[in-house]
Amino acid sequence: MTATVIDGKAFAATVRGKVAEHVTRLKEVHGITPGLAVVLVGEDPASQVYVRSKGKMTVEVGMNSYEHKLDVDTSEEALLALIDQLNNDPAVHGILVQLPLPDHLDSDLVINSIDPAKDVDGFHISNVGLLGTGQKSMVPCTPLGCLMMLRDHLGSLSGLNAVVVGRSNIVGKPMAQLLLGDSCTVTIAHSRTKDLPAVVRQADIVVAAVGRPQMIPGDWIKPGATVIDVGINRIEKPEGGTRLVGDVDYDSCAAVAGAITPVPGGVGPMTIACLLANTVTACSRANGLKEPE
Ligand code: NDP
Repeated sequence: MTATVIDGKAFAATVRGKVAEHVTRLKEVHGITPGLAVVLVGEDPASQVYVRSKGKMTVEVGMNSYEHKLDVDTSEEALLALIDQLNNDPAVHGILVQLPLPDHLDSDLVINSIDPAKDVDGFHISNVGLLGTGQKSMVPCTPLGCLMMLRDHLGSLSGLNAVVVGRSNIVGKPMAQLLLGDSCTVTIAHSRTKDLPAVVRQADIVVAAVGRPQMIPGDWIKPGATVIDVGINRIEKPEGGTRLVGDVDYDSCAAVAGAITPVPGGVGPMTIACLLANTVTACSRANGLKEPE
């Protein structure tokens, strides 16, 4: 069997197209331009790349992008003052603080200082609680993108066995909540899980969010399962240079799975598309308007 490749890049382009249409309507009918503020502290190279591409795509869908680049030694007080200013700025509908923050800053404190209605990453404790209790919230972008691809590919997820490998607050846990919300039977695996291969073999849906290059081989995958690879890992190529790989061993998994997301070109583009979608949702809610579907 050769797996269907789930084309996250193409799907993300479709999502961005819908966001752009909604933005046009907000501008033309209501005179409102959604705005996304991204705050970057320090000069982490990967974070710089993410922030640049978020800014570019925000503008491409017709929204305003506000980038705030702060020195690595910015004080907590100064960062909280900036967030307070953005919370009170009516032109800003979404606020994203790029993680990880430098060690001297308390990430939980900083994230929880964002107005939950503008928390387009969905990491504020209020949004986490709303998601966990099945209420309307801001949903974290990476798991939301994974869920959209799963629904698109499989239709109803009801009753399927889903195994999420990884229990981080930004991917694993919210992913599990979303799958539970779609009536999957969910297992969350992590570094202490006993006999991980046997656990993964039970899964109709595998979501790998571990951060370990090519950790999951094809013989852990149930034939026909759908594999969503969240991992982004840079490895050395034998001939020199580097390349990006996921948390699953793509070739051996693609030989067994029913469908699989590639890295790059799978989950990554969907994450940014969902960030833009969340910003439009936040803008619509702030103005008492119908939300995008
Ligand atoms: P974290 O490091 O926060 O979490 C990793 C999780 O994997 C932990 O729960 C850890 O378990 C678990 N784990 C580690 N080693 C093993 C192992 N040997 N067996 C089973 N579980 C293990 O990572 P993130 O969730 O932030 O990110 C995961 C991956 O996804 C990374 O590659 C990251 O780059 C990528 N990513 C991609 C995004 C995208 O847009 N595509 C967005 C966000 C992340 P424990 O809790 O027990 O330590």
